[in-house]
Amino acid sequence: MKLHGTMKINASGHLEIGGCDTTELAERFETPLYVLDEAHFRQNCRNYYRAFTEKHDGIVIYAGKTLLTLAVCHMVAQEGLGLDVVSGGELHTARKACFPMEKVYFHGNNKSAKELQMALDYKVGRFMVDNQYELKLLGRLARESGVTADIILRLTPGVEAHTHEYIKTGQVDSKFGIVIENGQALETVQLALSTEGVRLRGFHCHIGSQIFELESYSHAADVMMRFAAAVHRETGWAPDELNLGGGLGIYYAHGDEPQPVEHYADTAIQAVRSIAAQYGLPAPRLMVEPGRSISGPAGSTLYTVGAVKDIPGIRKYVAVDGGMGDNPRPAMYQSRYEALLANRASEEPQETVSIAGRCCESGDMLIWDIKLPSPQPGDILAVSATGAYNYSMSMNYNRLPRPAMVLVKEGHADIIVARETYDDLLRNDQVPARLQEKQKVVKLAR
Ligand SMILES: *Cc1c(COP(=O)(O)O)cnc(C)c1O
Repeated sequence: MKLHGTMKINASGHLEIGGCDTTELAERFETPLYVLDEAHFRQNCRNYYRAFTEKHDGIVIYAGKTLLTLAVCHMVAQEGLGLDVVSGGELHTARKACFPMEKVYFHGNNKSAKELQMALDYKVGRFMVDNQYELKLLGRLARESGVTADIILRLTPGVEAHTHEYIKTGQVDSKFGIVIENGQALETVQLALSTEGVRLRGFHCHIGSQIFELESYSHAADVMMRFAAAVHRETGWAPDELNLGGGLGIYYAHGDEPQPVEHYADTAIQAVRSIAAQYGLPAPRLMVEPGRSISGPAGSTLYTVGAVKDIPGIRKYVAVDGGMGDNPRPAMYQSRYEALLANRASEEPQETVSIAGRCCESGDMLIWDIKLPSPQPGDILAVSATGAYNYSMSMNYNRLPRPAMVLVKEGHADIIVARETYDDLLRNDQVPARLQEKQKVVKLAR
């Protein structure tokens, strides 16, 4: 397993993260346990801030859907980044964490009137408008509230990033955004420019996720700026903001080769500036929305090994006390992960095994065919790069309580999400009075 961030193997041969021995974390907080490496998370934020904001006056907006808790909001705000939210729930989290609302960007392809109103009341920085229905609805709500909403139109540039089918979002046939090539985008710009209650500021696109080829971004910038030039010719209006979305790939497992953030920034900014110059437009302010590349590598999950089942000549299954409930990605996307035995981290891997989750689904397999030093019941398995789309996608299938999350730094470990209890699982359950009457036994006639 590649060691991420502050990870190291200590003198006892245990995996350490943020100066904390992970076997002690497992003992103290129980497993499964999400561990977030604070120094690593902040470093990832800073890399973006330096590369885009300090160097090019760009705006970096953390994609909250990857991992959002109150503590995470505090760190993101302290690092000077903006925040993408996609729902009333994420917006509420930002608000409760006192996140500066002018730095909040509200995304989503079907925001409800209630959510839009909430965002207007909170005065979020930008509404990322996905479609004409939303544009009209937002315009009406803003007029009724006597305010003007700053908006950015989400467009589909028709760029397909080379990535997994489920996480390609920039192509024409997509539920997200407005299509450029068939004229709908231009029509929507005209509608936006004539809609009272909204002020059009720029364009957005998001071409996919887990992207390793930076040319995908220059290609997208090219399509977007070409469109901006066409809009300028038609309407005389030009965007002052261009948001190129997120999607920078990270290292999960062998074969993943992430690009450095500085290259990403330089590639994107150069593409935008040169094309703007070519069309005689002022270069718009560049915005990016990284999620996975900030939170992903900073998170790990600790599990305890339980049943080990060998099917001779076929496969050895090593079952852990979590699985698709805390990490649905392998089941959803066939995602790959790396892992090691945290309590025997310096031992040589000599056996190929497969890591099974504990849910009642054959598809609940965390890792197929991984080399480990012969796992035994009671060993602690650490899976790396689980910071993004794990806790945020977690669920209570099989009525498994969601794990706790600890934030580790320089030997300190603090709970930032408490472990769910069995009673938490019942919190919203209700039993109608008629079911509480003495149960009648209905005998079926034979
Ligand atoms: C998911 C998403 C992001 C973040 O993507 P990552 O791959 O996690 O960087 C950014 N913007 C939009 C619109 C998204 O849907």
